Amino acid sequence: MSEIKKIAVFTSGGDSPGMNACIRAVVRTSIFMGLEVVGIRQGYQGMLEKNFWNMDSRSVSNIIHLGGTILKTARCLEFKTEEGMQKAYDNLRSENIDALIAIGGDGTATGAERFSKAFGIPVICIPGTIDNDLYGTDFTLGFDTANNTVIEAIDKIRDTADSHDRLFFIEVMGRDSGCIALRSGIAGGAEAILLPERDTAIEELIEKLETGAKRKKSSSIVIVAEGDKNGGAYDVAKRVKEKFNFYDTKVTILGHMQRGGTPSSTDRVLACRFGYAAVKALLAGETQQIVGIRGNSIKLTSLHEALNMHEFKLEEDLMELATILSI
Ligand code: ADP
Repeated sequence: MSEIKKIAVFTSGGDSPGMNACIRAVVRTSIFMGLEVVGIRQGYQGMLEKNFWNMDSRSVSNIIHLGGTILKTARCLEFKTEEGMQKAYDNLRSENIDALIAIGGDGTATGAERFSKAFGIPVICIPGTIDNDLYGTDFTLGFDTANNTVIEAIDKIRDTADSHDRLFFIEVMGRDSGCIALRSGIAGGAEAILLPERDTAIEELIEKLETGAKRKKSSSIVIVAEGDKNGGAYDVAKRVKEKFNFYDTKVTILGHMQRGGTPSSTDRVLACRFGYAAVKALLAGETQQIVGIRGNSIKLTSLHEALNMHEFKLEEDLMELATILSI
């Protein structure tokens, strides 16, 4: 029999579409399993401020389709200190909270692991970030929706690019991760994709664009991840324009629209599976694990492994595919 009677769920760090569907899954699975469930508003900040919400099945009605997070999210520096963690723990104990489910990115998971190790409170993490840059899962929550948002934008830009014979540089999110750039670049039919994980010389890019122009491409779209070593889309566009002026050149920065919006069906189902799996894991006595999906099966990976396996590799076959299909 599990000792756990009351769990708390929170979202933290950057928000991502599907977080609400995941909160709903955690709350309803918990209630189904006979647990009490508390929502903590504003992540670790809410733990310090006792921003607790006793939730029931109706607390999560009509949120499955909403972007953002009804529990709000925050970045909290105080939680990184030992005193901050102690205060958070005391506040949780005062509410008889036995275990935690944290939905967020690698910062959130790092904090959760430290906290669990320091106080012995069981913690399960759920990877909620549009960046898809966490080890232990093929896909993070929100990644699919963010890609769909980017593709919709690319499609619209392509219409105008083609009408005017233009070269468009579209900057997408990804300071350290080129996952969104790569996927959306392939799905959006980009001529070139610039990523943080791979150095692309401007000369190489120009050569590619020149070849495309010779092949009678009337317009081109280049996807630039914000963390590309050449700088952002404006820098890349400026340098390309200096040597290649075949097309009229334009820049679009997609920015925070990539974080929002109604979650895709893929993200909603993933959110439901992750939330359910996290509660089951706690009841099975697991702790300091992150839930993930690998080959369409739900898997747990220890936070220690997930957070230390940082050699995240972009799929080389997708890189090759993008190159071949853009001729
Ligand atoms: P994300 O979870 O999206 O990566 P952050 O990196 O901003 O977002 O992390 C979210 C929060 O997690 C931070 O504001 C902080 O409260 C907590 N956190 C991050 N790193 C640590 C750490 N080393 N120790 C304790 N808490 C941390």
